[in-house]
Amino acid sequence: MIGIDWTYFLYVGPFMLLSLWASWKVKSSFRKWDQEPNASGISGAQVARMILDRPGLQNVKVERVEGQLTDHYDPSAKTLRLSDATYDSTSVAAAGVAAHEAGHAIQDKVKYPMLAFRTAIVGIAGFGSNMSMIIITIGMIMMSFLGSKLGFYIAAVGVALFSVVVIFQLITVPVELDASNRAKELLQNMAITRTGSGTGVNEVLNAAAWTYVAAAATGIATLLYYVVRLAGFRSSDD
Ligand SMILES: [Zn+2]
Repeated sequence: MIGIDWTYFLYVGPFMLLSLWASWKVKSSFRKWDQEPNASGISGAQVARMILDRPGLQNVKVERVEGQLTDHYDPSAKTLRLSDATYDSTSVAAAGVAAHEAGHAIQDKVKYPMLAFRTAIVGIAGFGSNMSMIIITIGMIMMSFLGSKLGFYIAAVGVALFSVVVIFQLITVPVELDASNRAKELLQNMAITRTGSGTGVNEVLNAAAWTYVAAAATGIATLLYYVVRLAGFRSSDD
């Protein structure tokens, strides 16, 4: 029977709630600290430029990108892209986000191993996040309706592919924490804006970190759910 398997929510539900809370927290803390001007009164784009130029990263471009919270560093293009809200804003929040993205560019320059690993598997992880659920579903349908042994192997391939996605999400956590730590240190040392406990920079960057923790936890729980289901299929087959 195809229907909603409520046990799925037993595994994943709590982490979905954590994800929702984290993304709400990111938006609300950004909104709050975007009202507060940073100490040096410079825009996100200028913050990024200053941080990049210091260790000799003049080759890294700073560009504008559409959308909300779409800020990112692109290692293959050596380009730092900041959303409108960050690019022009002279707020504490904008300085925090811009410095965080510059932190990724520095990771790239110093060949931070976790970032290199993440970049190496980004292709297969992207393929996995598009395809794994489809493959798992096809395999499970073949098993339930046709009692097909092949279905089990197809579903297992899907689960293996999904585990690459989870590995990617797991590596993302230390990569993001490291970028934020670099950002906090640089903003403080370069006297761009104050960081430390209770400051806007910390609030915004810590909220962002929670979204990556929540995504990784959701991934692990989802993986566990499928492994348990597949194991159940296997044992009922014997
Ligand atoms: Zn980041």
